[in-house]
Amino acid sequence: MQVCVIGTGYVGLVTGVCLAHLGHRVICVDTDVTKVQRLQQGQSPIYEPGLEELLGSVIEAQRLSFTTDLAVGVATSEILFIAVGTPALPTGETDTRFVEAVARGIGQQFAQRVAQGDRSYRVIVNKSTVPIGSGDWVRSLVVEELKRWGAETDLPFDVISNPEFLREGSAIHDTFNPDRIVLGGHSSQAIDRMRALYQPILTGKTAASPNQSVPLVVTDLSSAEMIKYAANAFLATKISFINEVANICDRVGADVTQVARGIGLDQRIGSQFLQAGLGWGGSCFPKDVSALVHTARDYGYVPALLEASVVVNQTQRGLAIERLQQILKILKGKTIGLLGLSFKPHTDDLREAPARDLIQHLHRLGATVKAYDPLLSEAAERPALELATLVGTPEQLAENSDALVLVTDWPIFRDLNYGQLGS
Ligand code: NAD
Repeated sequence: MQVCVIGTGYVGLVTGVCLAHLGHRVICVDTDVTKVQRLQQGQSPIYEPGLEELLGSVIEAQRLSFTTDLAVGVATSEILFIAVGTPALPTGETDTRFVEAVARGIGQQFAQRVAQGDRSYRVIVNKSTVPIGSGDWVRSLVVEELKRWGAETDLPFDVISNPEFLREGSAIHDTFNPDRIVLGGHSSQAIDRMRALYQPILTGKTAASPNQSVPLVVTDLSSAEMIKYAANAFLATKISFINEVANICDRVGADVTQVARGIGLDQRIGSQFLQAGLGWGGSCFPKDVSALVHTARDYGYVPALLEASVVVNQTQRGLAIERLQQILKILKGKTIGLLGLSFKPHTDDLREAPARDLIQHLHRLGATVKAYDPLLSEAAERPALELATLVGTPEQLAENSDALVLVTDWPIFRDLNYGQLGS
């Protein structure tokens, strides 16, 4: 099938590469010229295990191309994915302006197609995480643009919600081995096209364990949009829950890792997302929980549990500082080394990483901050970190540090010789 993916971030790029690998012809569109130029040369602007290899192979097979021109993508594709960012506004609500720009752009291109006699059916697929009701809103924006450009508004097209559940750090694996695929929409024609698109994944052809078919959940538009928010809010709350249990454990002399194992083996609870730590971060949980809280309040409901989950998460960041103060007393003039910077292992994504809060807090208290991150320390283009120095090895991190804080649960941090680092 001919597919256009608009936005080549973590979600858009991985989706484009994986669909091309399945045999579809994919055009990825992004407004970021530098990114598109890099991608055209087969270089991935982000790190994901296996991504660069797969990218190279599908470019070579001429099934994936990149452009900054939306017109090219719309002209040739029957399925148009919206995969642009939906960051949080300072108020915590969702900033939907990138989605709006894309929806209007598609509407304008539809009008051009009509002018050229092309009235073929197209499906717009919302993969970005968008506030509930956005599917209908995207449709209305497209119709508005069709009117503005003098085209007939009865052009056949549908809007589908197809929320994304991939995890950064295992995005390719997750795309080929999803727990479920969710499609929300009213049109059976659009759902059928999407079912055909995902056929190899749904039937388990791409699965790591052979013949493991994938459940397809078909819902109305709003329910599909809600599923994404509810899933992330649940996972974030599960982490806040175990952190709260950890804080009680500390006071009563219990060990949260033993407690987590003991409760996690209960199948109704499950062992994932039960590691106590510095709390959740990243580009999704904070903004998605906050968006759901806003939506609830907009509709006159006080989401007490979700709000508590946010409060526990904020408090958790301060806990590491408290520990450092208990042991080192005065932090002014001390050097603190952070093991890991990204919000979780196997990714270079620093958006909303707990490490950012730690660095700022420590700096405010007068400490010098150094950091070692297995991926970012090795990267050709290390991120310019304000207020912290990135070093190349755990040993360099330990040198002259008064304390190390284990921030990210990278597997290699399990095997460090902490005794030696300490001395
Ligand atoms: P990102 O910020 O990494 O990438 C967004 C891309 O869209 C950028 O390359 C940007 O240049 C491009 N863009 C912006 N405006 C554009 C336009 N008008 N036309 C074309 N391209 C444009 O975002 P991401 O992390 O891939 O997230 C995308 C969406 O998917 C968000 O809604 C996010 O909540 C959701 N999501 C993300 C993840 C994740 O792990 N990152 C997981 C599930 C869902």
